[in-house]
Parts: sequence; structure tokens; C-alpha cells
Amino acid sequence: MKRTHHCSELRPAHAGQTVTLEGWVHSRRDLGGVLFLDLRDREGRTQTVFDPSDLNAAVFDRATRLHSESVIRVTGRVRPRPAGTENAKIPTGQVEVMATGLEVLNDAEILPFSVDDPEVANKVNEELRLKHRYLDLRRPEMIRNLRLRSKVAMATRAYMDEHGFLEVETPTLFKSTPEGAREFLVPNRREPGTFYALPQSPQQFKQILMVAGVERYFQLARCYRDEDLRADRQPEFTQVDIEMSFIEREDIYALIEGLLKRVWKTALGMEIPGPFRRISFEEALNRYGIDKPDTRFGMELVDFTEEFRASAFKVFAGAIANGGVVKALNAKGLACATQGQIETMTEYAKSFGAKGLAYIKVEGGEWKSPIVKFFSPAEKQALTSKLGIEEGDLVLFAADQWLNACEILGKIRLYCADVLKQQGKLSIDPARFDFLWVVDFPLLSYDKELNRWYSSHHPFTAPVAEDIPLLKQDPKKVRGQHYDIVVNGVELGGGSIRIHQPDVQRTVFEEILQIPPEETQLRFGYMLEAFRYGAPPHGGIALGFDRLCAILCGTTSIRDVIAFPKTAKGTCLMTESPSPVTPRQLKELYLEVKTAKS
Ligand code: ASP
Repeated sequence: MKRTHHCSELRPAHAGQTVTLEGWVHSRRDLGGVLFLDLRDREGRTQTVFDPSDLNAAVFDRATRLHSESVIRVTGRVRPRPAGTENAKIPTGQVEVMATGLEVLNDAEILPFSVDDPEVANKVNEELRLKHRYLDLRRPEMIRNLRLRSKVAMATRAYMDEHGFLEVETPTLFKSTPEGAREFLVPNRREPGTFYALPQSPQQFKQILMVAGVERYFQLARCYRDEDLRADRQPEFTQVDIEMSFIEREDIYALIEGLLKRVWKTALGMEIPGPFRRISFEEALNRYGIDKPDTRFGMELVDFTEEFRASAFKVFAGAIANGGVVKALNAKGLACATQGQIETMTEYAKSFGAKGLAYIKVEGGEWKSPIVKFFSPAEKQALTSKLGIEEGDLVLFAADQWLNACEILGKIRLYCADVLKQQGKLSIDPARFDFLWVVDFPLLSYDKELNRWYSSHHPFTAPVAEDIPLLKQDPKKVRGQHYDIVVNGVELGGGSIRIHQPDVQRTVFEEILQIPPEETQLRFGYMLEAFRYGAPPHGGIALGFDRLCAILCGTTSIRDVIAFPKTAKGTCLMTESPSPVTPRQLKELYLEVKTAKS
């Protein structure tokens, strides 16, 4: 290797040394005939100086013809920068390299966008960046993200190893088990009409590994879900997937708290305090209107069902008579909300089936709202005292079935927080991380359209032991041994203690979830069989690794921490996949494409 130093290394102590650097021409400036090339490699930047009075004319001439991002090798002598020209912003800003030799390793053509502009991410549309991802990744912020991701992966592996976990790879050619998300299918050329599916998670394999006696398994596992992608989803993503035998929920909490502490320390040098708070699903919904609450600010939901039970305001009294609730929140200082903002919030309410959104603006000493005239003095008094209503506030209501009412206000709460942040009325320390465990989820949720129960988490989650007798009598009351880990309103992961008794698992499949026995056999027969040969009690969790890295990198988009992400349409713009295949390939797979792309 000819390179003697990285571009981050040189300091005044190196003055006088002859060094060789290799990298990309980050930027160039021509000052009175002297050429300054900032050379960049993965580690940093160093200023090199090409002075025609010092250099062979051919070398100087070649240097002047270099485009940005050309790859060069520069040899030269380190010297302190002349007084007044130092750059305090970069670690090598005290020195420069007076070039004596130049080798052009590869010329770069004019780029589709410039790599040296710190504002690239804001200025250049993301599609162009994704098409030329190799250029986008050259930006220091992106290298920083990749580096951090790698460090977090290493720290995770070390931590898991120290805790006795084996890293085991599980297949990515799996079998179709349609449930939840749609799957990617892979046709099998050996038997026409049969398919593999890419796994949505290694769930079944990791449970089988417990039956196999592995006791402690982990994997940085690639998972695939063929969903219509919402803003920040990827069709393939990575999980830190974990499973352990002979444990209870507390063991998982302790393990994950330790892991996250290690990761935060490694990535950000930050100590995070523990143990993490715990909150039940019901309390999370009641107070924050969501099962992954952002607890860095208040604006909590308050219940007014009792106060409005006999109200003259029929919308509220009627909802309560129907078995619903009335809830409200006070967006402090948001009486100034614009009509457009109120409309956005109304649309949220309507998306949950509500007819509209009741609200009160407190302005000029008055409660401005068409509904206030229906309120009794006692009702107004209750609102004032429980919500701490003051001049300038905006009070928003939801009157609906409990879950709906909570979720409507939960969404509005987050929206109001965003607006208040933009207005500078709410500030959240970017170095604050509110971790919490959400626990006591209902094991089952009801699908009104299909008229049946489905698993809130997945069908392998164990019911809380004392609730097992309720499984058949009153399924909605059964709590699952499921837990989610949440930070700052983001679900970082979730898992559960599993069912390990084959009879309980079969009851859940067939009697509760109403999967016909033949289908149970086809989809899960091998698991039920495995469980009959000595399955230890076990449980686990999976953390979204991309999301974890995004939080640590302080970015809101997981695309920023994935080297080659796909667009919201599931395409890779760089390789142009997915792409058509030849008739011959189709024939080999016994496939025929019937509908041409419209
Ligand atoms: N496999 C689950 C998931 O992907 C996590 C778990 O239960 O461990 O969400």
C-alpha cells in the first residue's frame, strides 16, 4: 500500500514529513495560480496545495484539469498552514500538504449532483440520490451513518455473545404462512406450482431452535414484507431477533435494557438510566391515545365520560349512552390554529369514523365554539379544572367508543405537538430518550368485518397464565404476555413469552383464531409436532435494527441508515429492480404472465 496516512490524520506534529494520501477530490479552489485540492477519504479531509513555482509543469497542468470526485494519489510535504488560513472546523485544519507528486487513479466525469455540498440532502431530490447511491454514500453524513450502524451491529453481537447467545442463521427461503403482511413468493423450478416465501421474520425457526435445545439464539435477521409501503417502511429490513428458553418476561426486560444501554453508550457515549418505565396498553391508550406513547411532553388525554353522561349536548351524551366515552385534551397555546390545521385534525377524526371534531378556542377571554352553549356551568367548571384551561388554549374532544376516542385524540395530540414545535412553543431536548415498556396488551383483537378474533401480536404469544381459563369464555379479557419497547414515540421492537404447550397452541389456532384443522396442519403442523417432543418454555423479542440506527443517527428516515434502500414503490432506482425476465426464465419456472403492465 502506498498510502501513508488517512485524510483525517495529519497534525502540526507531522510538519516536514513526506506523506502519500489517496482519495477523492472533494473540492478545488484556484487562488492566484495556486491550486488547493481538498482530498477526501472515508476518514476525513486534508488540504493539498499545488504550487506551480514548486512543481513540474506537467503535474501542475494535470492537477488543474481534475474534476471533483476524481480519484488521486498525492505525495507531498506536510506543513503548518500559514497564519490566518487555518480551518478550525476540521481536525486536519492546522496543516496542508504541499504536493510534489500526483497520480490520477481515475478521472471522474461531471457529477449529477455535488458531493461536497452539505445541503445536498435538502437540495437534491431523493430519487436522484438513490439512482446514484454510490455518490450519495460518499457524503460524510452517510458514511457516518454506515459507520454507526456497523458499530451498533458489532456492539450488539458482543453483548449477545457475552450473555451466552449463539448467532444462528435461519433460512430466507421459507414457506408461505399467509397471515399479517403479504409475502414475497419465490417460484420453485423443480415442482411446478410450488413456491418458497421470504420470511416475514424468523419467528417459527427461532422457536424451533428452542425446541432444539439452543436455549439462547440471536440473529441480525433480514425480514421481508410485501406491504404497500407507508412513508418509512422498506420491503426488506433488519431485525435484532432474539429467543431464550426457561425465562419469564422480566428476563427479556433485563436483557434488552442492558443491550440498549450498551448500544447508547457505544454509539452516543451516553448513559441511559434504568430500569425503564412500564405502562399498560390500557393506560397508554387512556393517557396518550396510542400504544407507543411519546412521553417527552404532556398534553395528556383526560376522561370526561362521567361529567357529560347527562349532558344537554346530545353528541356527547349520545356517545356515552352507546357505551362510548368522552375524552379531551388541551393543546396549550394553540388557539391560534389555522382553519387548515383544524381541518387536518378533523380529517384525522373522520378517518376513524367520527362525524366531525368538537373543539374550543379560548381567545379574548371567551370560549369560542358552537358547542359551548350546550354546556352547563358544572361541565365548564370540570373542563377548566381538569384541563387547566387558560387564555390561548385549544381544547379538542372525541366522543366515541373507547379505543376510537383514544386513537383520534392520540393522533391529534401528536399533530398538535408538531405544530407547537414549529411555533417554538414546545421544545424537546434532542438528547432526551424516553424508553418504556408497553405491557398487558390484549391477546386478541376483534375484526368486525370478518367477524372473528385475530392475534394482537402473533398466534404464538402466550396468554397471561391466570387468564387461560377465559380463553374460550371471554376472549377479549385475556391479556397476552406481549411487550413492546418504545422510545420517544417510536416502537423499537416487540416480543412475547410463547405458548409452548401443543394443546394450548392448537386451541388458539383452531378454536380461537378459527383456522380450520387441515389448514393448521398444513401451515403449522411441523411446529405442533415439534412441541410434542419436549418444548421448553421460551420467549423472545425482535428489535427493528434500521429504526434503532435511525434514532441513534438522529434521522427520521430509515432510508438514511440503509446502504441501498428501496423507494416507497419498492423499487431500487440504482439497479432498476424489480425488472422483467426473459420468456425462457419464465418457462423454466412454469410461469406465464397473463396481465401486461397497464
Ligand atoms: N417475530 C416477531 C416480530 O417480527 C417478534 C417476536 O415476537 O419475537 O414482530
